[in-house]
Amino acid sequence: MSALFRKIPSVDLLLSRVEDDEDLAFMPRTMLRDLINDFLDACREEIRAGKIAGEEELEVEALWPGLRDYLRDRVKPRFRRVINATGVVIHTNLGRSVLPEEACRAAYSACAHYSNLEFDLDTGLRGSRYALVEELLCRISGAEAGLVVNNNAAAVLIILNTLAKDREVVVSRGQLVEIGGSFRIPEVMVKSGAFLKEVGATNRTHLKDYQDAISSATGALLKVHTSNYRIIGFHKEVSLKELVRLGLEHDLPVIEDMGSGNFFDFQAHGFSFMPEPTVQQVIKDGVSVVSFSGDKLLGGPQAGIILGKKKFIDPIKKNPMNRAMRIDKMTLAALEATLRFHLDPQKARQKIPTLRMITMDRKELKNKADRLKNRLRRKLGNRVDITVFPGQSRVGGGAFPEQDLPTYLVGLGCRDISCEDMRAFLLRADPPLVGRVENDLFCLDPRTIDGSEYQMVVESLWSVVSGR
Ligand SMILES: *Cc1c(COP(=O)(O)O)cnc(C)c1O
Repeated sequence: MSALFRKIPSVDLLLSRVEDDEDLAFMPRTMLRDLINDFLDACREEIRAGKIAGEEELEVEALWPGLRDYLRDRVKPRFRRVINATGVVIHTNLGRSVLPEEACRAAYSACAHYSNLEFDLDTGLRGSRYALVEELLCRISGAEAGLVVNNNAAAVLIILNTLAKDREVVVSRGQLVEIGGSFRIPEVMVKSGAFLKEVGATNRTHLKDYQDAISSATGALLKVHTSNYRIIGFHKEVSLKELVRLGLEHDLPVIEDMGSGNFFDFQAHGFSFMPEPTVQQVIKDGVSVVSFSGDKLLGGPQAGIILGKKKFIDPIKKNPMNRAMRIDKMTLAALEATLRFHLDPQKARQKIPTLRMITMDRKELKNKADRLKNRLRRKLGNRVDITVFPGQSRVGGGAFPEQDLPTYLVGLGCRDISCEDMRAFLLRADPPLVGRVENDLFCLDPRTIDGSEYQMVVESLWSVVSGR
């Protein structure tokens, strides 16, 4: 064994081999040196464990393929593109919405050049970064005024802090929800400086419950979209219209956290989804202030959009917290480009990938599934059983939680490798592919895979199946 240890090449020798490799040569020497040391430590472990037993295995050229893969793996960017084969359209862990191409280009341009971010081109004076999107947002939604912050969690926080600090906010018990990633309404409320006044029972809240809770300490009435969960059966919530009437009687603002906040009316376009009011409807019903995410059903970048009556929006804009939550120029550029499509619902559906994927019809899904199946079969031959069968996709992002979207899945059954191993290997493919296991098959949902990604899917699966 000590003979083997002596045979381990020096770091300098390996370093000179690494510097001949153009994929790695650009890395700083100090970093490569550290990584080579780590690699050699692992070799020593393998010698001790008896996994390396022959001197020839320690030649530079014998170690090279392993070392090269180790280093390439360590130096590649940590933030990477992945293929979403899960069929969950707004997948929070995979970056929520894929943006329209025009939005990506607008973000690129905002990064690559100077811009009029806070510069008024009419007057040559300082301008407001929000002015342009505010006008667009108001045009689409019918609201009097609006602003945009970093995300919807920030939106809820700044709304409550501005309108209800040190005062009570009345909320139905059935709406005290936790959204994934630790956003809980009661906890956000505490941080905003407002006090939670819960009313009703978990499953039923009546107008009278709100009425009875209102006192001189009340600052606002809040309605929260229950997002990722739903109460079914013996259940009642008070409508926004009723709350607005009550708010007017007592001169209290009525706030709604809409969560996903859709401009696109799925029902009006023939999708028999569960009825969900659009932002336009909520504004029409007279809400004082409403907030929602930019990267859920809107299909744009991460943002928190706040709309409503000018008299409530103006103080929110002036809250010093706003400065700490402001959105950056890339987001703003991408948001404007996305919003422009929302001026025309047909265009929105065509151009915004999130809406296009959610509203994809069954015929197209079947075609996509068949095409993917054929391409896989051509490459993988008989090594894998490939079938297409009906399944379900999800909207995700807390939108339409009980709504299954019928789809066609491409199921892969592999003789030499278990579904779970296949799933794990595909996460290490380049680019990584995220799918799901169903009926003992590894399944790909074509709804969330773009046609231009098929080649990558085929290559990734080939690398797993062929063991390369
Ligand atoms: C998603 C969601 C949030 C959080 O929005 P982010 O944009 O992720 O910060 C808040 N409230 C509801 C009801 C939601 O669905």
